[in-house]
This record gives sequence, C-alpha cells and structure tokens, in this order.
Amino acid sequence: MKVLVMGAGVVGVTTAWQLLKDGHEVVLVERLSAAADETSFGNAGAIAPGHAYAWSSPRAPMTLLRSLWRNDQALRFRFSLDPALWSWSWKFLRQCTAERYRRNTQTKHRLCAYSKAVLHEVVAETGIDYDRQAGGILYCYRDPAAFENRRREMAILTDLGEDLRALDADQAIATEPALAAARDKLAGAIHAVGDETGDCRKFTQALAALCAEKGAVIKYDTSVTAIHASGDEIDKVMTDRGEEVADAYVLAMGCASPQFTRPLGLDLPIYPVKGYSVTLPIAGRNNPPAINGIDEDNLCAFTRMGDRLRVTATAEFAGFDKSHRPADYSHMLAAVRDLLPEAADYDAPDYWAGLRPMTPDNCPYIGRGRHRNLVYNTGHGHIGWTMSNGSARIAADVIAGRSPAIDMSGLDIR
Ligand SMILES: Cc1cc2nc3c(=O)[nH]c(=O)nc-3n(C[C@H](O)[C@H](O)[C@H](O)COP(=O)(O)OP(=O)(O)OC[C@H]3O[C@@H](n4cnc5c(N)ncnc54)[C@H](O)[C@@H]3O)c2cc1C
Repeated sequence: MKVLVMGAGVVGVTTAWQLLKDGHEVVLVERLSAAADETSFGNAGAIAPGHAYAWSSPRAPMTLLRSLWRNDQALRFRFSLDPALWSWSWKFLRQCTAERYRRNTQTKHRLCAYSKAVLHEVVAETGIDYDRQAGGILYCYRDPAAFENRRREMAILTDLGEDLRALDADQAIATEPALAAARDKLAGAIHAVGDETGDCRKFTQALAALCAEKGAVIKYDTSVTAIHASGDEIDKVMTDRGEEVADAYVLAMGCASPQFTRPLGLDLPIYPVKGYSVTLPIAGRNNPPAINGIDEDNLCAFTRMGDRLRVTATAEFAGFDKSHRPADYSHMLAAVRDLLPEAADYDAPDYWAGLRPMTPDNCPYIGRGRHRNLVYNTGHGHIGWTMSNGSARIAADVIAGRSPAIDMSGLDIR
C-alpha cells in the first residue's frame, strides 16, 4: 500500500518507520528543510511514563487563575480574544475533576509505558545513538506541601506498576550527588526509576535518514495546503509542489493539524502551548547530573544530553508566537543554577522556544475518524517524544487492520 505521512516531527518520522517495517511504500512530506525542526527540535528529552500525570488536574483551575495576576514564569495564561483559546480552555477545565484527572493520567500512562517499550525495540533494531541516559528521573520538590501532595498521588502510577520512590533530601543527594549544594532547599524528591532521557531531535533525524535508506521518499520544503475528500475517503493531498495521491494518509502535523481537519468537518481541539528551552555546553570543569531531573516548584527540567545540558520550562498561551528574548529564560536558569551551580557553562546559552500541541485531556488523537483512509496521529502535547514510538506502532496497526497492542479508549478520535 502507498501511504502519505504529513509532518516530519518525531511522530511523523516514527510512523514512517513503522509503516516501512510493515512493507508499505512511504512518502513523507514536511514544510521545513529537515526532520524535527519544529516542536521536536528542543524538548527536554524525557521519556517519562513515571510523570504521565495529566495537566488538567483539580489544582489546575486555581493555578491558571493565579497566573492571571502573578508574573509567574512557569505558567503564563493571559486574557486573549482568540476564540480557539476560550473554547480549548473551557474543554480543559471540564477535564479538571478528580475522576477525569485519574482516568486521563491512567490513559496517558498506558501509552507512555507501551511507547517506551517500542522505543527500545526501535533502538535495538537500528542502533541509533541519541545521547540516551537511563537510571531514572528525579522529580525534585522544594515545597514540603507539594512534595506531600505528589507522594499521595503517586499511587495512581505505582498501582499501574511504575517504580516510583519517595526520597528525603539526603536520599535524593545520595542518588544524585550533584544536588549537594541544594541540600537546604530540597524537601525531597520522587525517583522515577524507569524513566530515561535522550535527544529527540537527534533520534528523529537519524531515524529519518534510515527511513530514506529503507526506501521512503522524503519531500522537505513541501507544505501541505489542503486535504481533499470525496464521501468517506481522502482522494488527494494538495501541496505547494503539486498533489499527492496515496492509498492511505497519516496526519502528523502537530499544532498545525486542526487547520487541515476543520474543512473535513472535524474540529480537533489542539492548542499551541509555548515552552522555552535553553541548551548549555558542558566542559571538563563542570559537574553535570548523572540522573536528570525536574525542579517541580518551578516546573523546570534539566537534562544532560552528551556534552550539553538542556533546561526547559514554562507553559505559555501565546497562540502561534514562538518569539523569545533572553529575559524569558532568566527565571528558569536561576532555578537550575540554584540546584546545580556547576552543572554547565551558564554563560553560553543557546535559546529556543516551541509549541506543544495540547489537547484538553492531554491525550493524543490516534486512529480513524469518518474518512476510512485517513489516520490521525496528533495532539501529543507536553509528552510527545515519550508517546511517539508507541503512537506510530498503533497508527501502523490501524492501517494494517490489526488490533493495537493496548486498549485505545481515551486515545481514539473521541
Ligand atoms: C519546551 C518543551 C519541552 C518538552 N519536553 C518534552 C519531554 O521532556 N518529553 C516528551 O515526551 N515531550 C516533550 N515535549 C513535547 C514534545 O516535544 C512534542 O509533543 C512532540 O515534539 C510533538 O511531535 P509532533 O511530531 O507531533 O510535532 P512536531 O515536531 O511539531 O512535528 C509536526 C511537523 O509537521 C510539520 N508541518 C506543519 N504544517 C505542515 C504543512 N502544512 N505541511 C507540511 N508539514 C507541516 C511541521 O513543520 C513539523 O515538522 C516538550 C515540548 C516543549 C515545547
């Protein structure tokens, strides 16, 4: 079968790989000049089933409300006239009950855990080097009340088999000695033993090259302009370089996906949520962490990727604006420097900002809608690197007519 995949982020490229493994003829179209040049470019690199908690929690409405008047660097929600933001926010708030929070977290965890296993298979079969760091992720807490809250919530994930260990400050430092300077600031940490990290862009670009070697036709600098349907079937995709006709189509265009599904009668509630990321060099004199982590009070991740330290933070509702200035990074850099003063060369920052394709319940859309030859694989939000390889396997299963290996409730076109 000939399959056209739209979008060469981590989700599109992993999907292309799984389709090739199934023996399909694959064409991948991407508007930019390289794979993983949009949201998959500079993320925190966490493969984190141990942190699959939904953002839409019972605490979220108050956090959002507070951010309206506080100059909070972690969450920036501002009044806006954008009707898409209001519609998305209403749907998000409806997901913030205790019962939906638990269910969405369980659904995300199901996909995250499956996806980590598929990632390991792909790495075993390809040997891709992507600066993987295993040994878990340390979720660090400064505020004792927040630490206590998370300890109580941990059962949602430990009941599903996730190995999460609550550590006091001394145990956290014994686990990651680079945190020693922050002894007085730490209330404790949760060690998610099975989590790991790696460079999503490096992985995606290497896998795209292997897809091309395996026969995929990758068309960079090619923008999808419209998806044409007749009845319950897609008959072609228009691009700025001509039309593409295939037997099946996969939509993996991240934040851009809704603009192409609306004319097909499907209003996907995916809203861009901006995040900031800065990459710092690590030299011989530095003392980088051997175990990566998150400063949970500042929602700020620190990840060693080979000879670089990546620091990411912030959820900002700014539409499709990806602009950034050095001042946007001062709070997050100060927070990480406070915990890990010697981790990297803090005076040589390389700044980036990207847009998370967030759905109201934080779960992606994978599978068919009303067009029998169009498969959605989009809306992976803040945890799409973690979910990508499993989502790709599922999309390929749907195209092959196989049942996916996991229960798809909460992950389909709902
Ligand atoms: C600051 C930050 C930190 C993050 N940290 C983590 C983390 O630690 N762990 C984790 O699991 N996830 C993390 N994420 C989330 C993760 O990066 C995303 O979920 C993931 O990259 C989404 O992948 P995607 O392929 O769906 O989207 P994208 O990477 O955006 O890919 C979509 C592609 O479609 C292309 N496209 C769009 N429109 C068109 C068109 N008209 N024609 C052709 N091509 C088009 C785009 O150019 C793009 O290449 C983070 C995100 C951010 C912003």
